[in-house]
Formats: sequence, structure tokens, C-alpha cells
Amino acid sequence: MKRKTITSIAFSVFVAFAIITAYIMVYAYHHREVSELVYLIFNSYAIAALILGLVFVLHWQYSSAKRREQAQQSLRQLVESLASPAMLWNDALDTVIMNDTLRELSELTKSGEGVDAKYIVPWLFGQKLLTETQIREIVRARDREYSFTTKNGTKHDMIWNTAGIEQDENGVTWYLSIGLDLADIRRMQSELTDYSRRLAASEGRHMLTMELTDIGILLIEQGNPNMFPSEKLRTMLGLKGETITLQDVRAKIYPLDLTIFDNHVQTMRLRMRDYLTQTGRLELRIGSADGQYRWYSYRFKATQRTDTGRLVVGGSLIDITPEKEKDQRIERLAYEDEVTGIPNRNGLMKMGRDLYQCTVELGAVYWVIALDIDRFHLINDTCGYENGNQLLRGFAETLKKQLNLGGFGARISGDNFALILRDSGDEDLPAKVVGRIQRSLATLAVGPFANRALTCSAGYARMPADGESFEQVLERAEFALSSGKAILGSIDRYTSAMHDSIVTESVLEKELTDAVMNRQLEVYYQPKVSLDTGRVVGMEALIRWHHPDGRLIPPSVFIPIAERSALITQITRFALYEACRQTRLWQKLGLPEIVISVNMSSTDFYQENVCAMVQRALEKNDLQPQYLEIELTESLALKDIDTTITRMKELREAGIGIAMDDFGTGYSSLSYIQMLPFTMVKLDSSFIFNMDQDKVIEEIVKSVIHIANTKGIGTIAEGVETEAQEKLLRAFGCGQVQGFHYGKPMPAKEAEAFMRENMKQHGV
Ligand code: C2E
Ligand code: CA
Ligand code: CA
Repeated sequence: MKRKTITSIAFSVFVAFAIITAYIMVYAYHHREVSELVYLIFNSYAIAALILGLVFVLHWQYSSAKRREQAQQSLRQLVESLASPAMLWNDALDTVIMNDTLRELSELTKSGEGVDAKYIVPWLFGQKLLTETQIREIVRARDREYSFTTKNGTKHDMIWNTAGIEQDENGVTWYLSIGLDLADIRRMQSELTDYSRRLAASEGRHMLTMELTDIGILLIEQGNPNMFPSEKLRTMLGLKGETITLQDVRAKIYPLDLTIFDNHVQTMRLRMRDYLTQTGRLELRIGSADGQYRWYSYRFKATQRTDTGRLVVGGSLIDITPEKEKDQRIERLAYEDEVTGIPNRNGLMKMGRDLYQCTVELGAVYWVIALDIDRFHLINDTCGYENGNQLLRGFAETLKKQLNLGGFGARISGDNFALILRDSGDEDLPAKVVGRIQRSLATLAVGPFANRALTCSAGYARMPADGESFEQVLERAEFALSSGKAILGSIDRYTSAMHDSIVTESVLEKELTDAVMNRQLEVYYQPKVSLDTGRVVGMEALIRWHHPDGRLIPPSVFIPIAERSALITQITRFALYEACRQTRLWQKLGLPEIVISVNMSSTDFYQENVCAMVQRALEKNDLQPQYLEIELTESLALKDIDTTITRMKELREAGIGIAMDDFGTGYSSLSYIQMLPFTMVKLDSSFIFNMDQDKVIEEIVKSVIHIANTKGIGTIAEGVETEAQEKLLRAFGCGQVQGFHYGKPMPAKEAEAFMRENMKQHGV
């Protein structure tokens, strides 16, 4: 249309021009004034060219202004629609179109009229002038800060994102610049820092290690592909550039944590709004500046920008690697035994409860086996703590090898271990497995354990048949273990008969009360013989219970029950009085003046007036204190060493002897001989039984006797059953012996006969 107009105007001008030329030519021909003709022709051409040119220029100006106006109209709309400060400008610096946000920010007139682009554009970019080079730089810059200060003195730091959008006919390039007010970001950052700090404070476990400076901040604006990491975060993660894209972040996530990350991204896409009211949290590993993957706790919250209405997510990133490592270590420690590296009691309980649940839900059957290394305390005492640990580790290895599929092994305390085995339909499976463990344990008797008899005992129960919970099944396996304790290498299955014996305990306790009142208790006497002379030098008072049903119940059954109640005091008092009375009676009958030994349990010993009580027993029965000896076990000293020493000293000052009973069954036995005022050491029968099989035990017995002798403490060996044992003890210099080889515990009448016989043999 426009082109047609130009063409028709040009055509008309040329037609007019041709007519004028023809007219001039005719006129000139008639008047023959050629020079004037030429002049006229030239002149008219010049006028025509001028008109034509003018028409062209006018037209061109009109149409390009129109087009520019139209283009600018749509750009103006675009700019106005942007929420961020934005402007449209050109490198001729003749026009600038700003949106409301920028006009408000720069405090320029609302309409934008009277704005001189030549000054305003450079000013917005913090310059006085804008050279071509500077413009190129502005276009290239992605995250450079530019500042300007308004009339009212407010300074604005901006990041401008500028793109060339078109070049018009005049070669003028138009630019669209979108700004980011850093004050906005900083305000948000400070808000975020603030709530990061509050978050950190509310999380006690982060408090200690976390200084504010360790918090990195990340801003994400809805719909914006760029995220804004704080400077701290950039250094933490080794990021370059002020922005980062989602893909950049994803590339840094630890491969195993990508699922967590992707889920999070998906959640944010769909439910960003949820985080306006709640704080989200995420823990994952991110590749960091040091080239390592580190654990970060990412906490985030969304806010809605008041200006644009858009959601912005602000998140704090905290390096929690040390805490994570600590947590993992704690978790390991919580379920793992430090010495052997196999699970500990907690680990066993956790697994056991789960498996019990399996037996209930899936009908599976398991065996629970409790194991105990026989006389482990001896090994610990004699081979040293480190070697003891080595044995525990060796034992743990042995256990691991015996685990079938789904089996589980743990160290539950000291030398107590447990196994859980899946049932294979073989009732003898536990006994077979324990048998294998015992054989493999025996092979460990090398190095520091050379010549040692290494054995273990076991008790086992079936799960779920033998208990209502894993705890109960384990308890019963342990009960079966303890019931067979006297025999080394015993393997006992829990039976309901054992269970019945627990049930009858309360019945027994009641009956025992009656027994004390109804004189069903009787003191038996077991002779103590001097190895030197072969004469009876003492008797040990050992209590017996004549049950109304005719059974003679041994003290090993009822003393532990009595010890749990006040009954033990009455029993001990009875034994003490009876023993003193009998000894005095034997003296009066002209029998040898023997020393009577009375056993006392720790409950008795910790009585306020134990010494007074013992002295009263002596006085009442008219017995001299040198004829009485109290047998105490070293375990009592473990309770309260100071009180023990005080009480013992009182007894000693009253002239009463004190024997350390069961020497060698507890810990640190040797140190107790030195520390506590004992007059006698009574070597436990387990030493004597094993003396001839175990070279080390033989050595212990020998050195204990030697130490006691040099300290002026008497020595007695209990449980002597053979001639060979007696021979060894004699060779070691042991003072006295007691055991079935000489005489069993017997009623007073028999003991009296025994003494008379002994007197006869030795010609007294
Ligand atoms: P104990 O003080 O260690 O007593 C030694 C135990 O070994 C006695 O068992 C005795 O019969 C047994 N015995 C002695 N010689 C031999 C032997 O050669 N071979 C074997 N295999 N065993 C032998 P008993 O009489 O059944 O006493 C068990 C425990 O009951 C005693 O161990 C003692 O701790 C406790 N007891 C006994 N009477 C009393 C008492 O009046 N008061 C307190 N508190 N405890 C007592
Ligand atoms: Ca004893
Ligand atoms: Ca004993």
C-alpha cells in the first residue's frame, strides 16, 4: 500500500516533469534560445528531484515512526507486565521506557515523561555516559552489580540482565534490561539467616557445632530457573557465579541421595505453598568445596513476596557431617560390642524381638542359646586383660562361623554370649552347634593359653515355644545355662521342670520360714585336716534342711532364696549359735580344741552390729574367740570396700579369724589377700578339681599358697577328693585340706565319731 503510493507519486511527478520538458523543448525550438532551454531543463529536473526526495523522506519518516511506535508499544506492554524493575532503551539513548516497578524504585515521575534517556540510562547503570564498550559489557554481564542513588539519597544495588532485542532501520539497537534489586535479596537473606539461626537454636544438637557463619543460604523463586546461593554457600559447595540452576545442584548430589533430591524437587513443584506454614527439612550428601561429599541439613520455608505475589523459598544449609559421623558411631557403639566387634546385648535384643515377631507372624522357629566361657575370670586374671580380650575375640569368631543362614551371634556381657539359630527341624541342632563351638574353642589353647583347658557351657531354649517374648526365651536359655554350671562344658536344654523350680521358689520361701521356726534346720560338720599332722584341726558348719516331705535339701537350693529375704539372718544366727554350742560341748567332752568355721553371706556381714552379734554368740555359748572363724567370699568386699575393712577389723580385734572362702572364683583375688585382713585363704574347689589337668591352675595354686605363707596367712584347700591332689598340695606347702577324701559334711554325732577315730589314728 505504502509502496504503491510512493510509486504513483513518483510516476505523477515524472509525467508532470515530462510534460514540462516537452513544453520547454517546443518553446525553445520556436525561440531558438538554447542556452536558456538547457538551463530550464536542468532547473526543472532539479526541482523534480527535490520534490521526489522530499516525498521519499517524508514518507520514510512517517512509516518508520509508525512502525517503531507499534514495536515499542508491544515492548512497552512486555516491560510493564514484568514484576521486576525493567526498562526498554536503545543505544542512541534517545528513549527509555520503564515499568512502574523501576519508576518507583528510581523515584522518577510516574508517567515517565520528561525522562531524558541520555542521562537516565547511564545513571541507572551507575555511569555518566554509556560508551559502546560499556554497553557491550552491560549486555554481557550476568551478575555484575550496578548502583544508583535516588534524589532522596537511597542507594540501590542492582543486577541487570540485559538483552539486545532488535535493531531498527536506523541501526539503533534496542535493549531490554531486567533488574534485580539486591536490597530485596539481602532483606530476604537476613530474614532467612534469622530463621536459620532460630532453627539452629531450636535444634539442640546443632547448637554446639554450628556458628551462624556455617550456614549457607539458598533462595529459589517460583518460576525462576536460577537459584541464588549466598556467598557462604558458594564457598561451602565451591560454586562459581552468583546463580546456580537446578541441574547444577543435581549434579552435585551424592548418587545414593538422588532419589531424596528428586522427590524433593517434585514436592516443591506441586506443593511449594505448603511450606508457607511449615518448615521443610532434608538431609543429604552434597559434593563440597573440598571435593568430598558432605552431609547437609537443608531446612527451608516459603514466603510470598508482597510486591509480586510470587513464592520464594529460602533454605539454610548446614554441614552436619561431624554430627552424622558421631551419630553413626553412636549407633554402631549402641549395637556393637567394642571388644569383639560382634553385636552386643542391645543388638541381640533388637534382633531377637524382630525374630520373635517373625515366629508369631510367619511361623518360623528359632533356638536361643546362651553360652559362657568356663572359668574365664581365671584366664583374665592369669593371662592378662589383653589376652582375655583376645580370647573373647577368638570366641566371637568361632561363633560367627557356626551361624546358619539367618543366625545371629552377640556378646551379652563379660564372657556371656548368645546365639540365635534358625530351626532346621533337628532337635539336636543347638547341642551339635555348641559341640562344634567347644571343639573349635579348644583349638585356641595356644600362645598365652597354651596348656589351658578352654571349654564353654551352654543352655538353650526354643522360640517361641519357651517364652512369651524374646526376653523370656533368652532368660530361660540363661537359666538352663546356670543350672548346669557346676559341670564344665555342660549343654542343657531348658525344660519346664526347670521352670517349675522357679515357680516353687515362692513356695519354698514360705516353707523355709516355717523351717526356721520349727527347727527343721540342722548343722552338719565337715572336717578340716592339717596336712602336716593329719589331725582334725577344724570343722566347717554347713547347714541342711530336713524338709517335712522327708528330703534333705542342700543349702545351694535354699540359701540363695533366703538371701533374697531377711531369712538369711535367722539361718546364719542359728548356724552360728549351734556351731559355737557344739564346739564348746566337744571341748567339754575332751575332744581336740578345733576351730569352727561358720559361713556368712554379705547380707549378714553388712548388718550394723555383726561383730556384736558374733561376740554375743560366743559369750552365750562360752566359747573363746580364737575357736571361731567366719568364712566370707571376696565378692562381699566388692560392695563397699571401706565398710568391709572396718567390719573385718572389728572381728579381728575381737580375736575372731576370717577366711576368704571360694578364693579364685571372683576377680582380682590376689589383690584382696593383700588388702583385706584375712587370716585364712580357702582355695576354691574348682582350682583343686582342675589342678592336675591345667598347668596354669597348678601354677596359681602354688603361688597363692606361697604368697599366703610369706604373709603369715593360713591356707586351706577345699574339695580335695584324691590322693594325687593331696600330694600336690603338700608339695606346694598348703596348710590344711578339706574334702570328700577326708570326710563329707556330717551330723554332729558322726563328726564327733570322726574326731575320735582321727584321735585314735594319731595316738592322741
Ligand atoms: P561352701 O562354703 O563353699 O561349702 C563347701 C561346699 O562344698 C559344701 O557344700 C560341701 O558339702 C562341698 N564339698 C566339700 N568337700 C567337697 C568335695 O570334696 N567335693 C565336692 N564336690 N564338694 C565338696 P554344701 O554343704 O552344699 O554348701 C553349699 C554352700 O552353701 C556353701 O558353700 C556355703 O556357701 C553355703 N552355706 C552352707 N551353710 C551355710 C550357712 O550356715 N550360712 C550361709 N550363709 N551359707 C551357708
Ligand atoms: Ca565355706
Ligand atoms: Ca567354698
